[in-house]
Amino acid sequence: MANIYRWQAPGNGKIFDKPLGESSYMNSRTIAVLRYIQEKVKVSQVEFNLEIKTYLKNSTDYRENNSTPSHFFRPLLFLGFLKISRSKVLELTLEGDKFLHFYERGEYLKCKKYILNQLDNSTYPNIATKDIKLQLFPFRILFKLLLQERKNGLSKEFICEQLVYLRESDDLVLYEKQHDLSKIAKKDEYDKFYSWVINSLVNIEILERKNRRYFIADDIYEDVENLYRNLSFSSLFFNDETLLCQLDTKTAHERYKRDPRLIVEAKIRDNFTCQVDKNHTTFLSKGVNYVEGHHVIPMFQQKNYSFNLDDVDNITSLCPTCHREIHSSDDKEAILNKLYNLNLAFMHLNGILQEDLQKMYYCV
Ligand SMILES: [Zn+2]
Ligand SMILES: [Zn+2]
Repeated sequence: MANIYRWQAPGNGKIFDKPLGESSYMNSRTIAVLRYIQEKVKVSQVEFNLEIKTYLKNSTDYRENNSTPSHFFRPLLFLGFLKISRSKVLELTLEGDKFLHFYERGEYLKCKKYILNQLDNSTYPNIATKDIKLQLFPFRILFKLLLQERKNGLSKEFICEQLVYLRESDDLVLYEKQHDLSKIAKKDEYDKFYSWVINSLVNIEILERKNRRYFIADDIYEDVENLYRNLSFSSLFFNDETLLCQLDTKTAHERYKRDPRLIVEAKIRDNFTCQVDKNHTTFLSKGVNYVEGHHVIPMFQQKNYSFNLDDVDNITSLCPTCHREIHSSDDKEAILNKLYNLNLAFMHLNGILQEDLQKMYYCV
């Protein structure tokens, strides 16, 4: 497999071409595609291909052309707003659901944060692009660099001739020491990433352009800082085989401090019994039945919520088998419903629905 190590644009890059909330051809089309899938709840790709153009014609100013219907959903798949099953059934993810929810209510800053948080997950190839043998290094590197270059920003030339060729964290060793971007090797200009992705991020005001240089937009700066200030460059790189959710979990460990005392507190509260079934006894450890602490709403979801997930009310005690089941089972529905009901007050207080919890675990 001959990978070309160069940052690529995800699909036909621009799915938003104006600030969120402004009506434009691409914005309306993308929102309509999300609405269509949400209305259907689940839709096979075959049905999507048959129906989407008519749906767009009836609900937007879509002009019929011969573009492939999959182009309408692939960038959304890339962003993780959609998921596709092995049997090619499309549905919204929790994040896609929330994004659309806030969009319909006109809460566009929240929508922007969802895009930022989803870009944080995105790697290339991913499920939307798995047949394509090219390499897109993650957006997280772009954002981390933009944070470090807060004062001067990044130039178009840097993006087209250097950034797109970054291949591994070693490429940034000299930069980390000397804070000098010119030390990063230059190659031929390649501007598709710049013209599609970077400009699209400017269009939706995640990035800001001043004198041909790029900066993080003010109203989202703090969110970018929260995501990346504790992460090293080396932790931002990963190989093709890294699964999205492994990545989420690994990143969440570096990003969010957990208080080990809360786990102890939860175990004492639960009397060292498995909360799925109190009869699941294991062995004695330090004189009590061995159980493990588990965050019911996974810590990697912290970026999408303003309440603290490292909270004793969000921690439950599980026997090792139940703990494995929740992380590895193909069918987590029954066990998740049980966990959801353990602390309904916490879930309700924070607006977490039972189906939200199910969706959070689809790839954990
Ligand atoms: Zn766990
Ligand atoms: Zn158990």
